[in-house]
Amino acid sequence: MAVDLNLETVRDAPKVLLHDHLDGGLRPATVVDLAEAVGYSALPTTDVPALGRWFLEAAHSGSLVRYLETFGHTVGVMQTADALVRVAAECAEDLADDGVVYAEVRFAPELHVEAGLELAAVVEAVLEGFRVGTARAAERGRRIRVGCLLTAMRHAARSREIAELAIRYRDTGVVGFDIAGAEAGFPPTRHLDAFEYVRQQNGHFTIHAGEAFGLPSIWEALQWCGADRLGHGVRIVDDITVDDDGGATLGRLAAYVRDMRIPLEMCPTSNLHTGAARSLAEHPIGLLAKLRFRVTVNTDNRLMSDVSMSREMTALAETFGYGWADLQWFTVNAMKSAFIGFDERLALIDDVIKPGYAALQA
Ligand SMILES: [Zn+2]
Repeated sequence: MAVDLNLETVRDAPKVLLHDHLDGGLRPATVVDLAEAVGYSALPTTDVPALGRWFLEAAHSGSLVRYLETFGHTVGVMQTADALVRVAAECAEDLADDGVVYAEVRFAPELHVEAGLELAAVVEAVLEGFRVGTARAAERGRRIRVGCLLTAMRHAARSREIAELAIRYRDTGVVGFDIAGAEAGFPPTRHLDAFEYVRQQNGHFTIHAGEAFGLPSIWEALQWCGADRLGHGVRIVDDITVDDDGGATLGRLAAYVRDMRIPLEMCPTSNLHTGAARSLAEHPIGLLAKLRFRVTVNTDNRLMSDVSMSREMTALAETFGYGWADLQWFTVNAMKSAFIGFDERLALIDDVIKPGYAALQA
């Protein structure tokens, strides 16, 4: 008799998260604490529940620009080494408590130097925080492996520097590189030198593409920049025609993405909040999963969207009728697409993920 699929049982299922922003996942209480500790006075309120609601409301505005404004506050309180260690440690603990067994958490070092920290010190504080949080979770019997992605901001000009930092710390916790920020007007090709550097160093990178912006952004990310994965990539549906009889015709770019098994880091709830999709039922993840694209499920920003991996997966199961086999498929897809070595990915799939889902389906 298989275990019923609901929020509680999904929490017990092993999950893999590839797209989660460190500055988008703070606990509201931590934002208030840190603001007080560092003398940050710009918070809309210091009442913890009210602050949580404020983040969610701002995220719900339907505008990517407004959504990105909420990060002013989280980044504002993450300017000291102590704050970065705490936020990263709590991130690892929160994910582990939610049943995430492997996570790649990303952040932009260049946003955390306002109080005088060097870029390297920022990275070291975050890596230390992940170690602390992972150890604390292990003490409670929750095993998680956290890899870090360093993000460069696409409107800025520090991407080459950040790429070098990602390579420098690749043996101590950084597993890849990314660019993020407003897509319109800032094509990924502005950062070609950074991507070329990472490729020359045999490193890995993903690019936020095809979230608010369409196919040209996805095409540039893959065919000019050589991205290993696509952050979001939802607009790839613009290159797919669904006929009246339910059959689908793929354009050349969509076919390339599916044929080459390019991982799509999909974040459905986040897309609803930024206006990239109108409802979960209409979200392209349903079609893309049905067409067997390499779809993965992610949280993006747990604070702003008030989501967790368990809640995201449960909502998808309710909306699309997914069962344990489907949740396992998303999880194995994500694990296969992770930036850690093949042997480690295989071990997590064979020793943790498959036994975990087998127990739930037994
Ligand atoms: Zn993102």
